[in-house]
Amino acid sequence: MPSPKSSSRKSCSSLMPDLMARISDPKLTDSLLKIRELMGSMVPSRELQEKIPGFKTQKGIYKPQNSEYALWIRQTLTGVYQDQEPAMLPDGSWYYRYSPEGKKGETDLSLSTNRALFKSMEDGVPIGVFIQREIAGSQSTYEVMGLAYVENFDDAYFIIHGEPIDNEAEPMTSTNIPQFKPFDVENLSISKAMSRIRKIAFQTGVRRVYHEKCSLCELGYRFNGQPIGVQAAHLIPVSDQGTSKDLRNGILLCNNHHALFDRYLWTFDEDFRVIVKDDPQFRHSAENNHVLTVEGKRLPNLPDAEYDFPASEAISFRLDRFNKTYQ
Ligand SMILES: [Zn+2]
Repeated sequence: MPSPKSSSRKSCSSLMPDLMARISDPKLTDSLLKIRELMGSMVPSRELQEKIPGFKTQKGIYKPQNSEYALWIRQTLTGVYQDQEPAMLPDGSWYYRYSPEGKKGETDLSLSTNRALFKSMEDGVPIGVFIQREIAGSQSTYEVMGLAYVENFDDAYFIIHGEPIDNEAEPMTSTNIPQFKPFDVENLSISKAMSRIRKIAFQTGVRRVYHEKCSLCELGYRFNGQPIGVQAAHLIPVSDQGTSKDLRNGILLCNNHHALFDRYLWTFDEDFRVIVKDDPQFRHSAENNHVLTVEGKRLPNLPDAEYDFPASEAISFRLDRFNKTYQ
């Protein structure tokens, strides 16, 4: 798990959050909002070429003409630099290390593209992040990671920090993961558009930490770059004000296991062991269902980092509801 190292350069983290408001160039704002809209999706390169400025011609870091800031960075499969996979934090933000550009294999921080990223860092202006993905039988396709801040430069890499689900909150860092807050108080000041973006961010974050597969049966499909048949389920339901701003209130399930989970026909305990409803009719009807195969066993697909695991408060809320239902 990467964590930002100390740096001689100024970090922008003290300027966070709500940095979109700092941008005075409406064209830049417009382009960044377009990238935010696409967050979490896999988009063919030719589509991005139509939608995103600079995508047709530029690799690596793109700095629009007449702008002192970078607009986006992209990682290609054939890139010469060793960038690393993003690591997700419970607030839906993520860390990603990105190599500066160079000439003839040597990093050159004086290049205008690198300077533009430093400028984005110093003024706390967000950038878009695209990562090319290998998809069997598909044309060149990019995962739109979303918007991020250039948080630091550790003398080898730019430390890129994705914006959290609650983009008005201070993003978590890997060394400072606050306690889980189980409930959201409805924020009436949030626009419909922003609340839609946050829903997408929660779904995307949970999908990423569960490797795009059902936690219980490990099924998950992709077609045309889009995930099929898996959704982020809330442990504390939204109807009980369960949070959608923290991935620790979520779990990725396939349609089948989500439907049974929603009806409280199975759940899991604090050791992530599967518990199935003790109901003869249900159990008989579920004879061929994987849920009976894993009963009493640990959920086979959990996040890589323990801090992304479902929170114990959320698990006990669920377990309590499970025990009370159908009594
Ligand atoms: Zn499943």
